Amino acid sequence: MKITFAEFVKGIRGTDEITGDPRPQVAFVGRSNVGKSSLINALTGKKGLARASDKPGKTSEINYFDINHKFYLVDLPGYGFASTSLADRDKFRKLIVWYLSESGAKPICIALIIDAVAGLTKFDEDMLTVLKGESHPHIIVINKIDKLTQRDLHARVSGVRAAVGDVPVLLCSTKEGTGIQELNEYIFTE
Ligand code: GDP
Repeated sequence: MKITFAEFVKGIRGTDEITGDPRPQVAFVGRSNVGKSSLINALTGKKGLARASDKPGKTSEINYFDINHKFYLVDLPGYGFASTSLADRDKFRKLIVWYLSESGAKPICIALIIDAVAGLTKFDEDMLTVLKGESHPHIIVINKIDKLTQRDLHARVSGVRAAVGDVPVLLCSTKEGTGIQELNEYIFTE
């Protein structure tokens, strides 16, 4: 889908009517620093979009973006960042789990973004367990593939595929623009 409109709508921290809005939602989740904001900006072609919601406090909210007045792109808080306190990490995880389990949202797809160099961390595996438990359709996006040699990338992809079974795995580099179009076509199906 060609994205011609992408705007921040609102950030939520709990119950809000937007979670039940009939417009289809596509959600992005991943560890902090995995390149989630860069990916959202690359997908929408708007450099500051995800960062626009990066004001103090905003990163701890669930941010909704309007895409072409047809979809919501839902940016879930980054989890597991080493420099955030344990209490904050727990808070972010709870908010993500609330969205997935209790908010009433029925995302058509959740993209779990992982780092090509780090691979599937224990935080990612925890999130996968939650996604599977809630039966939400999901995919894995391996980002920062430009950081690996072809050989290491091949090994990484095989390892991830073996670990996740039949979950689709897409490859991206926001730095080089690789895989962005494929991701767009996968998640924004009209
Ligand atoms: P977020 O915390 O997940 O939203 O991550 P950001 O989008 O802020 O990116 C974190 C860091 O990773 C930044 O320094 C980005 O420039 C860098 N980054 C993001 N995507 C890529 C990529 O595909 N390749 C490389 N090499 N770096 C990336």
